Amino acid sequence: MELLDLTALQLGEAIRRGETTIPAATQAALDRVAAENPQNNAYITVLGQQAMERAERLQAALTPDSPPLYGVPMGLKDNLCTRDIPTTCASKILGGFTPPYSATAAERLEEAGAVLLGKLNMDEFAMGSTSETSCFGPVKNPRDLERVPGGSSGGAAAAVAAGMGWYALGSDTGGSIRQPASYCGVTGMKPTYGAVSRYGLIAYASSLDQIGPLARDARDCAAILDQIAGADRHDATSVAGPYGNVLASLDGDLRGVRVGLPQECFGQGLDEAVERAVRAFAKALEARGATVEEFSLPIMDYAVPTYYILACAEASSNLARFDGVKYGWRAEGYEDLTDLYNKTRTQGFGWEAKRRILLGTFVLSSGYFDAYYKKALQVKAVIAAAYRAAFERFDLLLTPVAPTAAPRLGESLSDPLKMYLSDIYTVPVNLAGLPGVSVPCGADEAGLPIGAQLIGPAMGDAMVLKAADAYQREVRA
Ligand code: GLN
Repeated sequence: MELLDLTALQLGEAIRRGETTIPAATQAALDRVAAENPQNNAYITVLGQQAMERAERLQAALTPDSPPLYGVPMGLKDNLCTRDIPTTCASKILGGFTPPYSATAAERLEEAGAVLLGKLNMDEFAMGSTSETSCFGPVKNPRDLERVPGGSSGGAAAAVAAGMGWYALGSDTGGSIRQPASYCGVTGMKPTYGAVSRYGLIAYASSLDQIGPLARDARDCAAILDQIAGADRHDATSVAGPYGNVLASLDGDLRGVRVGLPQECFGQGLDEAVERAVRAFAKALEARGATVEEFSLPIMDYAVPTYYILACAEASSNLARFDGVKYGWRAEGYEDLTDLYNKTRTQGFGWEAKRRILLGTFVLSSGYFDAYYKKALQVKAVIAAAYRAAFERFDLLLTPVAPTAAPRLGESLSDPLKMYLSDIYTVPVNLAGLPGVSVPCGADEAGLPIGAQLIGPAMGDAMVLKAADAYQREVRA
């Protein structure tokens, strides 16, 4: 049995059956990290000794009824707070910050017996689509080290793709779980807004941020969601919802399920190989009993500008707290308090974070608030309504995750506007607060992975994962 080839659920089962041990699995993952991290830079912090000690303790407490993911080693994106373990958001400004508490999602996994291997690299403050804006240097795509892994959860996707842990938690504000999952060939899910507590997730754009799993397949994602979902008294936007037994509902049967293909997602700018792969994905859903029909979703054109106005506005406000006083790093040689703020923020933030703070401050300033921020909020409501109308006709929507496969390193940052436009298929899902999953569905001519995106109505997380799982059963069959 090759441990690193198992899914997280299969490993959990092998551990419960005594076919392997938690320390053996943890050691295998740490060995892989030691071998691969110097190349792909997926991990910022690796917890070698600490992870092995936890593995020994968990092994001693193992019972036949331990939870499904008990003992399975995993990683967390470095914007999820972890008690006594540095949490950096891949930013110099959080250098030296060690949170006094853990994110609720991380804590729930810990209670279910997760072994934390370390903290995963990302775009600074989750702002980006390539994981190149990290102050720890870019992450590289394990499928092709000259390509980006996507972003901002690029470290999470690269780690899962390279066997450096069986799963990871990322965050998704406008595609940051789904798009890197697609570029690296793993399954990544953004739950319904509110399904998973955001307590302890360092905020980028609070009204759009959601924590979710990246894993080998949809069944693993369901098992992880079952652990982390549900109301939390620390996050007033979290809801109880129909979660806790999503895994049990994945039966592979899509009879009677109506899938809509928005025409606007298959037009100009879409790479031919991606279109072909996503249409083949639709055929596989049909083979499982679904009906697939094209329809028009004209609001797609407004999603990217609306998203970047709202996300930057919220970011400018959320990042105001990093001032050199409360958290992390402080510049040296300041003259007074204003100078301390100025020097710390000037030297502590990278270019992309600064660009967004400036843009966000602009759209929130008096005189521009109504023209940009308020207007964007109104368009957000129109986009959400368009999806609600679509879900009166369909149970699920199917689109590509990104217009192309992974670009080369260094190609994207020079033209930020072009990079923002490549978020076209993922950002409207966050604006509407809906669940979406990215499912690997083949490769382009260069052998680079392609992802299909399934989108469900609010609280339809189980349906989204059921269809993703049905597809994975169909291609395995
Ligand atoms: N690429 C998008 C952005 O840069 C999405 C990032 C995210 O989901 N965190 O904002």
